[in-house]
Amino acid sequence: MVNMLLMITAELENLTGLQPEGGCDDPNFPYYFKMKCSNCGEVSQKNTCVMLSETVPLPNGRGHTNLIQRCKFCSREGTVTMVQGRGRPLMLEVSQAGIYAPLMMFDCRGLEPVDFSFGHGWKAESTSGTKFGDIDLSGGDYSEYCEKGEVPVMVSNLKAKFNCLK
Ligand SMILES: [Zn+2]
Repeated sequence: MVNMLLMITAELENLTGLQPEGGCDDPNFPYYFKMKCSNCGEVSQKNTCVMLSETVPLPNGRGHTNLIQRCKFCSREGTVTMVQGRGRPLMLEVSQAGIYAPLMMFDCRGLEPVDFSFGHGWKAESTSGTKFGDIDLSGGDYSEYCEKGEVPVMVSNLKAKFNCLK
């Protein structure tokens, strides 16, 4: 078993608190990534999507997981279970310092997530307090205008990585 912590950062302009719309433990926020088989190293061709509200029972009857997937190459089966309570919104100071913020932890058995893709369903707040929702980062960036602060707001240069916590 390996715990993989998804870490993200981005360049934020006049924005702070970038996070899923329902907070870091948003039950319906979709995570897209590819799966790497821990047995043979094969990486899946297609993106897999997991979210907290979607679970499947474990074959041994001991609780639930968020994903059971069989490797197309070696047929080994693996599971990915999401672990709540580890995420933090990406704050402006953190992004300016080039630091990554943790978003979600995944308890991985036989499979490891790689290559996270940013999708839709994000929110953030301008430095003048205007809330921006329904932010779609699938195109790689986002820009709007804050009427209150009379400044442009922007998210760009998205980066993600998985930290392995054995
Ligand atoms: Zn495999």
